[in-house]
Amino acid sequence: MEPLRPATISSCAPVCSYALLTNVTTTTPPRGFTSGRALRPSAKVLPGHARGHNRSLVLQTLYRAGGQSRADIARSTGLTRVTVSDLVGGLMAEGLVIETGQREDPRPGKPATLLDIDRGAFQIVGVDLSAHAAFRGAVLDLDGTILARAELPLESRRAADAAELVQELVRRLLDRATAPVLGIGVGSPGVVDPSGTVLSAPNLGWEDEPLRDALATAFDLPVVVANDANAAVLAEHGFGDASGDLMLVRIGHGVGAGLLLGGVLLFGSRFSAGEIGHVVVGTDGGERCMCGKVGCLETWVATPRLEAQLADPARTPEDVLAEAGRRLGIALAPVVGALGLSEVVLSGPEDLIGGALAESTLATVRSRTTPEFHGDLAVRLTRLGDDIVTRGTAVMVLSAGLGVS
Ligand SMILES: [Zn+2]
Repeated sequence: MEPLRPATISSCAPVCSYALLTNVTTTTPPRGFTSGRALRPSAKVLPGHARGHNRSLVLQTLYRAGGQSRADIARSTGLTRVTVSDLVGGLMAEGLVIETGQREDPRPGKPATLLDIDRGAFQIVGVDLSAHAAFRGAVLDLDGTILARAELPLESRRAADAAELVQELVRRLLDRATAPVLGIGVGSPGVVDPSGTVLSAPNLGWEDEPLRDALATAFDLPVVVANDANAAVLAEHGFGDASGDLMLVRIGHGVGAGLLLGGVLLFGSRFSAGEIGHVVVGTDGGERCMCGKVGCLETWVATPRLEAQLADPARTPEDVLAEAGRRLGIALAPVVGALGLSEVVLSGPEDLIGGALAESTLATVRSRTTPEFHGDLAVRLTRLGDDIVTRGTAVMVLSAGLGVS
């Protein structure tokens, strides 16, 4: 696969909303993390950043609506028709936008020419490092549809060996891409800083692992690396029709969460927003956690703990799952209350979290919050299944590379 070095990415970088992705030649840290920027451009801005921002507005309009005329775009963005025509001309020259035909229009006069993003012009490589036994990845189109997959067993690799395995997986996926690659997205367990360094991922033996820099150097492509739960919440927002005020809880080997507020991903002061697994739930003890504390959320709801409890003949499955949901609800209620969330989405093994656990979570949060403010809270399972992290990495690449989501 011929690497792509598009002017589109570097010219977009200063205004891109999700600025985790930087060009490989960039040495300054990306901006815009802790200040929080909306994922989707929604309004005109003042001159200075105007051209790049307006370019993203046009792309976003086409990305979400498709089949629009220049006049349609002008109406929905508030830009002048002259500005829209100028931006569209540039985007067509870059190969990002194409004319798709003419609108059938009974009115007299010249019919409008319809435009769309050329959804086949580029592909994305997305990688999910969060599964217990294997690294998984896919080639995706610009709509987030998975075109090809690859998977490599982890076989207890750690540290440098695990990092090498990521490179091998990316290499295989790039070989399977059939169009220029817009960028590489990676969802990693652990705490990831804005430069794409994994500060800490104990299960993989990573500490200050410069994953993004290593991949960018190896493949000469733009790379974005984020925590897997953060990637997942972006997928739910981008492809799962979730609102912009959302908490996504991932239940697996551990428990983590991604938080989106007003469409902005929250990172927290130490980039650890959403790390709720080792928050103690309740004051009545519980099991000892691997972190040393007693009664952490993980000891109640992480998959291995649930499976161990379900194997206990003295307890019914309903009891085990309802109690896990109750503990999760106790942990979530203050978050829902403080942030005014309207949705909590659960991601994990559906046979464990889909029934009594989710119901008990919702009932517990309801009983501990104010009906007036939180009565319409929804707790549901993601519909994106096991591909949620991979598809979330595509959202990151799209947002950083094109300013769309
Ligand atoms: Zn713990």
